[in-house]
Amino acid sequence: MAPEQADTATDDQPARYDPRAVEAKWQRVWADEKTWEAPNPGDPGFDPDLPKAYVLVMLPYPSGEPHVGHLKVYSVGDAIAHYRRRRGFGVLQPMGYDAFGLPAENHAIRTGEHPRVSTERSIASFREQFLAWGISIDWSREIATHQPDYYRWTQWIFLQLFEAGLAYRTDAPVQWCPKDQTVLANEQVIDGRCERCGTEVVPKKLDQWYFRITDYADRLLADFDLLESWPEHVVTMQRNWIGRSEGAEAVFSCDELSLDFPVFTTRPDTLYGATFFVLAPEHPDLDRLIEGTSNADEVRDYVAASLRQSTGERGDDDREKTGVRLERTVTNPVNGEQIPMFVADYVLMEYGTGAIMAVPAHDQRDFEFARKFGLPVRQVVAPADGEPAPDDEAFVTQSEDVRLVNSGDLDGLTPADAKRRIIDELEAEGRGKLAVNYRLRDWLLSRQRYWGCPIPIIHCEGCGSVPVPEDQLPVELPDIEDYRPKGKSPLAAATDWVEVDCPRCSGPARRETDTMDTFVDSSWYFLRYLDPRNDQLPFDRGIADHWMPVDQYIGGVEHAILHLMYARFFTKALADQGLVGVEEPFANLFTQGMITRGGHKMSKSKGNVVNPADYVSRFGADAARTYVCFMGPPDGGGDWVDEGVDGVGRFLSRLWRLALERPDGVQGADIEWQRTTAGPVRDLLAKAHWAIEKATRDFERDFQFNTVIAAVMELVNEAYRLKDGLEGTDDGERALHFAASTAASLIFPFAPHLASEVWERLEGGRVWEVPWPEADDAMLAADVITLVVQVNGKLRDRLEVPAEAGKDEILELVRASEKVAAHTDGHEIVKEIVVPGKLVNLVVR
Ligand SMILES: [Zn+2]
Ligand SMILES: [Zn+2]
Repeated sequence: MAPEQADTATDDQPARYDPRAVEAKWQRVWADEKTWEAPNPGDPGFDPDLPKAYVLVMLPYPSGEPHVGHLKVYSVGDAIAHYRRRRGFGVLQPMGYDAFGLPAENHAIRTGEHPRVSTERSIASFREQFLAWGISIDWSREIATHQPDYYRWTQWIFLQLFEAGLAYRTDAPVQWCPKDQTVLANEQVIDGRCERCGTEVVPKKLDQWYFRITDYADRLLADFDLLESWPEHVVTMQRNWIGRSEGAEAVFSCDELSLDFPVFTTRPDTLYGATFFVLAPEHPDLDRLIEGTSNADEVRDYVAASLRQSTGERGDDDREKTGVRLERTVTNPVNGEQIPMFVADYVLMEYGTGAIMAVPAHDQRDFEFARKFGLPVRQVVAPADGEPAPDDEAFVTQSEDVRLVNSGDLDGLTPADAKRRIIDELEAEGRGKLAVNYRLRDWLLSRQRYWGCPIPIIHCEGCGSVPVPEDQLPVELPDIEDYRPKGKSPLAAATDWVEVDCPRCSGPARRETDTMDTFVDSSWYFLRYLDPRNDQLPFDRGIADHWMPVDQYIGGVEHAILHLMYARFFTKALADQGLVGVEEPFANLFTQGMITRGGHKMSKSKGNVVNPADYVSRFGADAARTYVCFMGPPDGGGDWVDEGVDGVGRFLSRLWRLALERPDGVQGADIEWQRTTAGPVRDLLAKAHWAIEKATRDFERDFQFNTVIAAVMELVNEAYRLKDGLEGTDDGERALHFAASTAASLIFPFAPHLASEVWERLEGGRVWEVPWPEADDAMLAADVITLVVQVNGKLRDRLEVPAEAGKDEILELVRASEKVAAHTDGHEIVKEIVVPGKLVNLVVR
C-alpha cells in the first residue's frame, strides 16, 4: 500500500477532489441516518404543518442495467426533490420496479432461466446504480410489481372493478401479435404494428378481458381542465386518442329479416346521398344475412381472407377497394329507399358500429368503391354559387358556402341547419338520435403470456366467471417448465394450479390462465408507495389523502397515451369506489427529452450507447448527474459528449479547490456587512446574489437546469477572477468564503455529495437542512442596458431594460413605448425580432 494517500491533506496543500471518497462518505451518512425517509401521517417525526410535495419519476422497467436515459430522468427528479425540500416541503420520493413483462419472459424462453431470477438480478443492479448516483430515495418504500405482496393488491383492485362492472370478459375481434403470441390493446398497436416488436398485427376473434375505460371518456376529456401545467402535446395526443366526435345515429333496417343496423355518422346532412350500405367483415350479423343466399360461400371466403390481413393494410387508403355484394337491402330511414348491402374490408369493426351508410358523392373511399362496383353517386351538397362540384372525386368541403340538393324538403338548407332538422326528424320517428362517438375502445387487459399478474377469476360451467375470494389472494403465479407461448397462456399447462373447485358451488372449475397486461401493474403503483407494507388494504385512504395527487410527475413522452391515460382511468375508477379522494393522479407532468450521441439515438447496433456506470466510476456521480442536467433544457434532448462530462468534472474540482483553500476562522458574511461593501468585494458578493436569483428563477421556470448550473459556473469563475486581489484581506476572505458556500448550496441539487462536503467544511452541518438561499435586493446590482428599438429597421426609440430581461419582458416594455406606438398603431405587427442585449425590430405592414 502506498505510504500516503492522494486525498490526504497537508498544511499548505488542500486535498485533491476525490469523488469516490466523497460520494461513499455521504451515501453512508444518508443510509445510516435514513435521511430521505418521509414519515406518513401518524408516524414519528411527521410534521402536519409541513406542506407536502410528492415528486415521482416513472418507475423503471428492470432489464439489464440502467442506461443513460435513467441517469437523466432520476437526476432531474432528484434535483426537483432536493429543491422542494429546501423550499420547506415535506418531500416524498420513492422507487420501485415495473417487474413483469415480455423481455424477461423472452429471455426465459431462450435460456430456460426463470424470469423471476433475471428480473431480480436486474433490480439489484438498478438499485446499486441508484445508490451509487446518490438519488435521495425513501428506500423504506421500495416495491416491485412481481412480488406477491404487491400483485395481491393488483388482483384485489381488479376484483373491485369486476364487481363494479368495470372489468368484463367478452368474445370480440382483437389484435394479435404473431411474434409475441398474445393479444394487444389498441393503444399498443402503432400503425398496424405491435408496439413492442414491430410485427404486423392480425385480427383474431377471442374471449378476452376488458376494462370499461370508455365509460370514463367524457371525464378523461373534461378533467384536462385540472391539468393546466401538463405539456400541451401530451394533452393533444390523449384528446385525439379518445377521439370524441358529435353526429347522429341513424338506423337502417333490413326488413325481410327484421334486423336493425344503427350507424354513426358525423354527416347526417348527407343521408339522402346514401346509395349503398357496407358492413365490416367481422360484423356479427353477417351469418344471418347470408344464410340461404346463393353467394354465401363467396362471402365467407372473402371474410376469411380479410381477417388474415392486418388493420394497417385494411386502413390503407391507396389500396384498391374490394368487397362482395350481399343479396339483401336495407331501408334508408329518411326516404324509405331500398339500398344494396355489401361486405368490404375498408370498414373496420373497431370504429363506430362496424357498419356504414356509404355516401359516394361526399366520401372518397365510398366514391372509389362505387366506381368499382358501378353504384350510383348522388350529390346532395353543392356549392351555393351554382358552380358544379367535381365528378371525378368525392366532393368534400369545409366551406360554408354550400347548400343541400337532391334532399327533398331540405334542399337549399346549409349543412348545419340540415343536420339539426334530420336529427329532429329521425328522433321523432324513432329511427335515430343525436349521438357522440369515441375513437377510444375498452382497454383489453388479458395477455396469453406467463410473466404477469394472474387474473383472479375461476371459470365454472354452472356459475360462470367467479371471483377468487378475497382471503385467497394473491393467486400466486405457479412455476412452470416450458415458457414457450403456444397461442394460449403457458399457465394452461400448470394443471394442478388450473384445476380448482368452484368457490361458489364447489364443483370442478378452472382458473383463468391469461395474465394481466403490465400496464395494469403500473396504473396504481404511485398509490402503493404511500403505504407499501399495508397487508389489510392496497393503501390507507387517510395516508393517500395526505400525499395525493403526485405534485410533480417526471418521465418520457413515449408514455403520453398508454400509461398516463390508464393511470388517469384507474384513479377515477378508484375515486368512484371511495378508495382515493382525487380524480387526477398527476397534478403536474414534466416530460424529458432523449439523449443522443453523435446526433443519433443510442443503440447497441450503432455502438454509441453510453453506460452510466463507466462515467460514474471515471468522473464521479456528481459530475455525471450535473452533466446530464447541463446538456440542455431537460424537456429537450441533448447530445452526449465525453468532453462535456470531463468539463463538468473540472468545474466541480475548481469549486472544491476554491472551498478548501479558504482559511479557518473567517468571519461570517452577514447581510448587513455585505451591504456596506464596495469594490471587488462587492462585485463578488453581488455575483453570488445574482447567481441565487438566477438559479431560483430558472428552477421555478420549468426546471431550466442548464442555466441554473451555468449561473453557478459563472459565480465560480468570477471568484477565481477576483481571488488574487481578495485573498489575504479580511473582507476579501469573507467574500470568497461566501461565494464558495453559496456555489455549493446552489449546486447541491445536482452534485449533492460534493456540495454536502464543501458545505460541511465551510459552514458546518448539513446543507440539505439549510433553506434554499434568498437573494438580497440591495445586493442585486440593478444592471440595466440600453436597447435599440426599430420599426421596419428604422430607429424609433432607446429603452433601458434590465440586463436579465427575457424576450417577453422586453416586448412588454417595447409595446409600452409611445414613440414605438406612433409607428405601429393601425398596422399589423407581422414579426417581432429580439436580439438580446442589442436591439428589437418590429416588422409591420
Ligand atoms: Zn409483438
Ligand atoms: Zn360453480
